[in-house]
Amino acid sequence: MRIVVLGAGFGGLELTTRLSAALGGEVDIVLIDASDTFVFGFSKLDVMFGRSEPAAVMHPYGDVVKPGVRFVGTTVRSIDPEARRVETDAGSFEGDVLVVALGADLDPAATPGLVEDGHEFYTVAGALALRDVLPRFGGGRVLIAVASLPYKCPPAPSEAALLMHEYLSDRGVRGDSEIALTVPMGAPVPPSPEASEALLAAFAEHGIRFEPNRRLRALDPARKVASFAEGAEIPYDLFLGVPVHRAPDVVVAAGLCVDGWVPVDPGTLETRYPGVYAIGDVANVGTPKAGVFAEGQAATVADAVIASVRGQGTAVEYGGTGTCYFEFGRSLVARVDITFARGKPPAGRLEGPSAALAPQKAAFATSRVRRWFGRS
Ligand SMILES: Cc1cc2nc3c(=O)[nH]c(=O)nc-3n(C[C@H](O)[C@H](O)[C@H](O)COP(=O)(O)OP(=O)(O)OC[C@H]3O[C@@H](n4cnc5c(N)ncnc54)[C@H](O)[C@@H]3O)c2cc1C
Repeated sequence: MRIVVLGAGFGGLELTTRLSAALGGEVDIVLIDASDTFVFGFSKLDVMFGRSEPAAVMHPYGDVVKPGVRFVGTTVRSIDPEARRVETDAGSFEGDVLVVALGADLDPAATPGLVEDGHEFYTVAGALALRDVLPRFGGGRVLIAVASLPYKCPPAPSEAALLMHEYLSDRGVRGDSEIALTVPMGAPVPPSPEASEALLAAFAEHGIRFEPNRRLRALDPARKVASFAEGAEIPYDLFLGVPVHRAPDVVVAAGLCVDGWVPVDPGTLETRYPGVYAIGDVANVGTPKAGVFAEGQAATVADAVIASVRGQGTAVEYGGTGTCYFEFGRSLVARVDITFARGKPPAGRLEGPSAALAPQKAAFATSRVRRWFGRS
């Protein structure tokens, strides 16, 4: 059996690791990614604030050496879901099972003025650019704004605001600065009222202005103001945006998307095409776009493939459970364990923020690096 996995992010790496561990050389697993390295989303915050060296957070795919797995570094150009075949710059690949784990693309150009006068911290390039810009920022109005829903890791903009407070305080320019955060929803993390309350308390403590229900429309670089669909304007000297997210063009062109993302059976992650699955940010599963959920979905697909190879009947359905860690600044970390069960409101539990949780978050990353890349 051949399993072709498109995308070696959280979802693709977890899936291939599990398949290799269970089936080793019994199956042929092809893992395709256009990038040379994997970078955790949260490492981008560390890079932009100078907390980590870029080289330390880049994990080369050349290190993925696992029984049965062949990593192919190439770009997927087209997907034929009926034939479970893809065309890439390195030729075509056909599978008995095809898993689309290509994540979400960013479209900064969809927000007028953002590319010209703003910054983003959702890509490695954006984080690296900010790493150069921030030390030269002598204080002023910092505006962090989310362009649209859905976006990856709903707490990340709140973390950016709190880490910005810490960064500017340490540089002695916080007194000359204002920090504002806008989001297009009613709370920082709507599925977890407890986490939202903790974040709002931290914003109040640190003088961070939080504006919910703001849909960013455009930046006016000449006037240095951001305008919002609701009619409001907020001035800025330094603008950090979370750009519009979209399914990658190749997925849209394959006809796999409905309302922007790939619909799947939320229990099995299978698309309407037999043997074709979609996991992680590219899929519409009913969970937030976050690595932990991509990982859980990968585990479900792995179980189904393993059960089918072993002839062991059906696998357990995806449960929508994940653990998220949030940075509050000054090495304080909170943890939310949350479940998005079908037909029920999300149920979660907040722990922290506390210094004791910081090593747990670090262990979350190192344990994945060890399993996915075979080293710590
Ligand atoms: C600032 C920030 C902080 C975050 N913090 C957290 C956190 O604390 N916890 C958490 O769980 N999540 C966090 N996330 C979210 C997390 O990074 C994503 O949700 C997760 O990476 C999604 O996994 P995925 O496998 O769906 O896609 P990705 O990890 O994005 O992987 C998709 C892969 O597909 C490849 N690809 C795309 N198109 C092509 C193509 N045409 N051909 C070949 N390859 C292609 C890409 O190179 C990429 O490697 C954060 C994100 C950001 C930006």
